[in-house]
Order: sequence, then structure tokens, then C-alpha cells
Amino acid sequence: MPAELIDGVAIAARVRARVAAEAAVLAPRGLVPGLTVVLVGDDPASAVYVASKEKACHEAGMRGETIRLPATTTEAELLAVIDRLNADPAVHGILVQMPVPRHIDAQAVIRRIDPAKDVDGFHPVNAGKVLIGDPDAFAPCTPAGVQVLLTESGIETAGKEAVILGRSTIVGKPMAALLMQAGRGADCTVTVCHSRTRDLASHTRRADILIAAIGKPEMVTAEMVKPGAVVIDVGINRVEDPTAKQGYRIVGDVRFEEVRAVASHITPVPGGVGPMTIAMLLANTVRAARLTLVR
Ligand code: NDP
Repeated sequence: MPAELIDGVAIAARVRARVAAEAAVLAPRGLVPGLTVVLVGDDPASAVYVASKEKACHEAGMRGETIRLPATTTEAELLAVIDRLNADPAVHGILVQMPVPRHIDAQAVIRRIDPAKDVDGFHPVNAGKVLIGDPDAFAPCTPAGVQVLLTESGIETAGKEAVILGRSTIVGKPMAALLMQAGRGADCTVTVCHSRTRDLASHTRRADILIAAIGKPEMVTAEMVKPGAVVIDVGINRVEDPTAKQGYRIVGDVRFEEVRAVASHITPVPGGVGPMTIAMLLANTVRAARLTLVR
């Protein structure tokens, strides 16, 4: 029997509905959760991401605004904008859209954001909190979204072998930190693989839960997957396709059709992990707003 599909669109819609309900509870207390996205330069892909984040905020009854700065903005000017947003009580979440132009130090920018407003979860304070399992942590949206896909799909994670392909700061490492914690959607025994891993398949074949985040189109084949495994494909890769209208199509890191034949559950690309990222950004922002009430 082919694997059950994990429907990221439907699960993200549920998360967004919960966020909207939480925002509606905060509104009568005069608190409208607000996300400010800062976009430096005119990268067309970034402009699309930023517009969808703003729209998603409005749909959830939140305040979403974008500050657009020219590509010539200096690092000092960008840091001054962040300082202003850090001090603004109407702003609960700050996200600087990456990549920033090369003359700006991205790490300096991330470190300048107040960790309490770092809804992207990239500040070292939040990275540390995720690692120690602090419930106040803002976890990066993509791995947090993967964890929600698992729990919402009723997948038992406790005691399972989780193998993560990729050790990036935005996906692989925080994914490992989340799954190794004690608690719901976690309690896994985690292995993290990367480009220097020897005999990758010997690791992936042990996985009860296999999470691919490597950015290599369809690299994970059926022979690399244990029968009955849960396969989560984070990859988003463009491959040339002359039959497609735009001349390309989007595929994941997993060879979907053949892996679907051996896995128990699998995420499609698109429509799996992708929609969860914005949903978790909204969830982090509404939580950041709520936390201002107890501070
Ligand atoms: P990075 O390029 O930052 O990291 C890729 C990781 O994969 C690295 O750790 C690298 O190892 C490892 N890797 C590369 N090739 C191999 C290989 N042949 N065998 C084993 N490991 C390998 O990518 P990201 O983490 O940013 O993104 C990964 C994928 O996820 C991309 O396709 C990206 O587009 C997608 N993505 C999707 C998101 C979503 O919303 N769905 C959000 C973020 C990313 P090493 O460290 O040794 O170089």
C-alpha cells in the first residue's frame, strides 16, 4: 500500500485557524499581534515571500507590515531600523528577510533583534533555548513546522530513530534539537548526516523518521528508506522541465513516487513542509504578543 500523504496545506490551515482564534482573544485586551518584515534590496523571490507573510498576517487578524529598504542600505542604517522596532511596543515579531546584501553582516543583524521578538528563531539566545528545551524558545519555523506535521498526523515519535539529512542552522540543527527533547513530538534518538557522512544509506535505512533537508533534487531513493518509515521532505529544488509552462518544476530531496511505495507516511513537495513555515511564523508572533502580557 502506498504511503499516506501528510497534507501540509490542511495542517497549516488548522494552525493558522488556531492562530486567528488566539489573535481574536487578544484583540478585546487591546493587543493586536504585529509582525514587521524588513526587506533590503529588490530580490524578486524575497519580495514574493515577504508579500505572502504580510497577507497571512492580515488573514489571521494580525498586523503585518513590510519595511522596504534600498539595496544600498548600510549595515548601520539597518541596525538602526531594528533598534526602532525593538523599542516599538506595537511590534511583537521582527523578521529580516534573508539573504541581505553582501555588504551587510547577516549575523550582526540577527543578533541585534530582541530575542523576545525573534519570531524567526535565529537569534543565538533562541537557538540555545531550543537546545536546552526551554518552553519560551522561539524555534525556527521550518523544523517547528515539521514537528507539528508529525504530531498532527498522529505519528508516535517517542523512542523512534530519527535521521536528519542536513546540518544547517535553519533546518537540520534545530530539527535535531527539537526531536531529541523530552516530550510530545520528540523523545527521538537522533542522527544528523551531512556531506561528510560516510555511507549515507546505512544511516537512512535505520530511520523510523527520515527528514531530508539537503537541497539536492530527488537524492533520497527507495533503497535508502526502511519499509514503513515516515519520510519528511524539506527540500525545495527547481529542476528544468521543458514540458512545464515556466520551463522548470519544483521537486523535493526525495524521489517521491518510488519512496511513497515503501514509506508509511510521506510529505509531498509542494504541499508538505512548505506551507508550515509561514503558519509557524504566525504562531510564533501571536505567542510573542501573548508573552508581553505576562512580562
Ligand atoms: P543548506 O544548503 O544550508 O544545507 C544543506 C545541508 O545538506 C548541509 O548540511 C550539507 O552538508 C548537507 N548536504 C548537502 N549535500 C549532501 C549530501 N550529498 N549528502 C549528505 N548531506 C548533504 O540548506 P538548507 O538547510 O537551508 O535547506 C535544505 C533544503 O530545504 C533546500 O532545498 C531548501 O530550499 C529547503 N528549505 C525549505 C524550507 C521550507 O519552507 N520548506 C525552508 C528552508 C529550506 P554540509 O554541512 O557538510 O555542507
